[in-house]
Amino acid sequence: MHKPIIIAIDDEPQVLNAVARDLQAQYQNEYQIMRATSGKEALEAVQELKRRNLAIALFLVDQRMPTMTGIEFLAEAAKLYPETKKVLLTAYADTDVAINSINSINLDYYLMKPWDPPEERLYPVLDDLLSDWIYTVPIPYGGIRVVGTLWSAKSHHVKDFLARSQVPYQWLDFEKNEEAKKLLELESGKEVRLPTLFFPDGSTLVDPDLSTLAEKVGMSTRAQKPYYDLIVVGAGPAGLTAAVYGASEGLKTLVIERDAAGGQAGTSARIENFIGFPQGISGADLTRRAITQAKRLGAEILTAQEVCSLRVDGPYRYVSLKDGTELSCKALLLSTGVTVRELDVPGIDQLIGVSVYYGAAISEAAHYKGKKVYVIGGANSAGQGAMFLSRFASEVVLVYRDKSLEKSMSTYLIDQIKQTDNISTLANTEFTAIEGTEKLETIRLKNKESGVSVSEQADAVFIFIGAVPSTEITGDLIQKDEDNFICTGPDLFLGGSRPKNWALKRDPFILETNVPGIFAAGDVRHGAIRRVASAVGQGAVAVELIHKYLETV
Ligand SMILES: Cc1cc2nc3c(=O)[nH]c(=O)nc-3n(C[C@H](O)[C@H](O)[C@H](O)COP(=O)(O)OP(=O)(O)OC[C@H]3O[C@@H](n4cnc5c(N)ncnc54)[C@H](O)[C@@H]3O)c2cc1C
Repeated sequence: MHKPIIIAIDDEPQVLNAVARDLQAQYQNEYQIMRATSGKEALEAVQELKRRNLAIALFLVDQRMPTMTGIEFLAEAAKLYPETKKVLLTAYADTDVAINSINSINLDYYLMKPWDPPEERLYPVLDDLLSDWIYTVPIPYGGIRVVGTLWSAKSHHVKDFLARSQVPYQWLDFEKNEEAKKLLELESGKEVRLPTLFFPDGSTLVDPDLSTLAEKVGMSTRAQKPYYDLIVVGAGPAGLTAAVYGASEGLKTLVIERDAAGGQAGTSARIENFIGFPQGISGADLTRRAITQAKRLGAEILTAQEVCSLRVDGPYRYVSLKDGTELSCKALLLSTGVTVRELDVPGIDQLIGVSVYYGAAISEAAHYKGKKVYVIGGANSAGQGAMFLSRFASEVVLVYRDKSLEKSMSTYLIDQIKQTDNISTLANTEFTAIEGTEKLETIRLKNKESGVSVSEQADAVFIFIGAVPSTEITGDLIQKDEDNFICTGPDLFLGGSRPKNWALKRDPFILETNVPGIFAAGDVRHGAIRRVASAVGQGAVAVELIHKYLETV
């Protein structure tokens, strides 16, 4: 951890050297001693330290300096570091000025020059001030700080990515936090651009795209090689499992993920039915373990890097990435899963990411402490979302279209919901409109049987209403069903005959698409059983089939 800082400021080199020497002798184990030869130079250093969120324990500054006096410096520095102890070095003639500034700038002490011997005239004073500072001022957060507003989709996007990538950060709400305002002023003067991210090395990113952010926090976004044995598109449970098996079985394996790794499972607050975790496991934890395992076994994982298209040339399969690069491989696995179906209700578009969220939006839940939120949907993901949100919100209302939850939700979840006091349910109900301009105010709900519509006050809505497959990248190359899910193995035998252009003597393997060497696993497949365990199972089986395929090319 970085040591707190003491800054000594004096324009006379001899005096500055003497102060710095005495400070080093007594405090260098616990504090970093910095020096400056003018108020201006010191102020620049203070601004940089603020950007990096480092703690300054004490300013020790000479009153008589040419362009900026000690008191003028302290007044400016205190705007950024109000709690830092302020000590003025004075000559006898400055005593009155020093005494007046005890009130005007909260001066903590003034020391007459010279201060020899320091053991008697310097250290006792500073020891007292420093111990007071240590016990009263919290050590600043040493990681990434995100300044944004709760009512901003861009801020939500950045927070969600960091949270899902398990990168710790501190959230500073620009509308509520004075520290956030000061930081932004330091960065951009009067122009406010959100979200702005402050990093411990003093650098900043303003409204970054995910790939820039991923690179900045040290995640891989570019492939190390142009060619792999196996490329896996999508790092949900299916893709990550394929990475573990592929890499452990000697295939040069690359996984490409457009967002944070983990897929839908990564957004789940608690997966209770995955074998081996009797207490359940959060999607974030499962993802972290899978990534570590895949990397340890030698797989390469790119995040915030999207595959945009596929092509085939002889035995090679190619993927084009959003940044323009093209990578090739012998075998390709599509494990791109599904995304939540979007709701088409009036008023929704401008509030997405701003109090209306698709999925559990784990990074946002804590902001709804004590508030009333609605969860839309009747399947397991909605049930889990409601359970998770009930830990924060004072009231959670689960709205679903069917008469009962029994058909669509697991019994264990229905039981949990019944036993949770702050969750209520509204059956037979459709969510029909949203009202609110900058943030959500009310939602409209319609009873399907009676046809009666009501407006209800709501602080946030979390939507879980089914899924659409992520298969845009497959174009006409890959055969899909009428809902755009990928057909594999036996599903390809339309009317009993093999897929068009299938030139091999053998039939497609069970997870192989209509293009030899391109496989699909997990939720993206036609007829998939949408469970973590099925995706994991298929990820493993796909690698076995890929080995078989590779034996033939
Ligand atoms: C909130 C929630 C809770 C759930 N809880 C449970 C549970 O408790 N138990 C259970 O068994 N199942 C649960 N499920 C279902 C389970 O999570 C899914 O069945 C599983 O995640 C499917 O895995 P997958 O790897 O096939 O696809 P996904 O998890 O959908 O992952 C696909 C990945 O591919 C990426 N991708 C898509 N297109 C591209 C592209 N062009 N380029 C790069 N990357 C791309 C996506 O960003 C995504 O990360 C839950 C689902 C949700 C949404």
